[in-house]
Amino acid sequence: METRGSRRTLLPAAVLLLVLAALAGVLTLAAHGGADRPRVVRSAPSPSGPAPVDLAARVDEYTAGFAPDGSYAPPDAAQRRAVADGVLGALDGQPEQAGRELARVGYRLTEFTEAATGRRVAEIADGTAADGRGWGRIYLDLSARPNWSVQVPHPVSDARTEALGVELFRAAPGGVLVLAGAHRRAGADGSSDVAHRSDTVFAAVVEALTGRGLPGVQVHGFDEGSLPGQDAVVSSGAGQPGPAAELTAAGLGRAGFAVCRAWREKCGQLEGTTNVEGRFAAGVGVPWLHVELGNGLRTEPARRAAVAGVLAETVRSWGPR
Ligand SMILES: [Zn+2]
Repeated sequence: METRGSRRTLLPAAVLLLVLAALAGVLTLAAHGGADRPRVVRSAPSPSGPAPVDLAARVDEYTAGFAPDGSYAPPDAAQRRAVADGVLGALDGQPEQAGRELARVGYRLTEFTEAATGRRVAEIADGTAADGRGWGRIYLDLSARPNWSVQVPHPVSDARTEALGVELFRAAPGGVLVLAGAHRRAGADGSSDVAHRSDTVFAAVVEALTGRGLPGVQVHGFDEGSLPGQDAVVSSGAGQPGPAAELTAAGLGRAGFAVCRAWREKCGQLEGTTNVEGRFAAGVGVPWLHVELGNGLRTEPARRAAVAGVLAETVRSWGPR
C-alpha cells in the first residue's frame, strides 16, 4: 500500500514539473521576442553617444536663479551682432561658422537630442564661467528648417512663460525658442527688459530672425487683477491683426478661456503696442503675435498644455517659409 501510494503521488508531480518547464520556455521566448523581432530601443545612455537632454528641465535649471536683484551687463553693438549672426549661421546649417562667430563673445553652440521629442536641437548659450551677463539663450529645432519663433522675454517674472515656451517648441516642428537671460527688473533702469529695450541680445536675435521672415509669437503673463474677467489677451502689437491673431483667439476661446481681442476692444493696456520686437516685425511686415496670459494659464500644467496646443496650431498656420 505504501509503494503504490508513493507511485500515485510521484506521477502527477512529474507531469507538473514538465508543464512548469514548458511554461518557463514559453515565458523566456516571450521576454526575448525571438530573433525576427526588433529589439526595444531605450532612451538610456548608450556607449555610442550622450544621453538625451530634457529641455524643460534644462531651461528650468537655467532660469532658476533669475531674480530682480540679479546681475545684468548690457551688451555693446558688436556683441549683439555676434550672437545674432551666430543664430543665423545655425539657422542656415553652418554650425562651424556660427560657432566661430559666437566664440568671439564667449558664446557656444552645442547640439543634443531632446528627450521628449527625439529631435536634434542646437543650443546657443553663454559659455563664460559665471554667465553673469544675462544675455539669454536660443534653441533651434534641427529636425526641420526653422520657420517660426517663440519669444520668452520675461522668464520667471512672467511665471512659467519659460515652460510654455518649451512646450510650444516641442509641440510643433521648425521652432526657434528665444529666452531672455535675466529677470525683467535685473540691472539698472530697466536695461534688462528685453521687450522694451532694443539694445539687448534678445532684441538683436529676434530682429535677425524676423528679418529673415520668420513669424513669431511672444508670450507674457499678467496678474488677473489688472484685467478682471479675462484669461488672455491676443494682439498683433503694433502690426495689423492677421489670420493668426483670429485663429489664436478662437482657439483659446474653444479651450474655454475668456479672450480679449486687442484689435476689437480695450484690453487693459496689455496689447503690447510699445513692444520693440513687435514694432520691428510691423515695420518689415512679418506676422507677429503678442499673447498675455493670466496666472492659471501659465502655472497650472493642464491649462498651460492647452495654451501650448492652441499656439502650436497658430505657428503651423504660418506654414513653411
Ligand atoms: Zn511680460
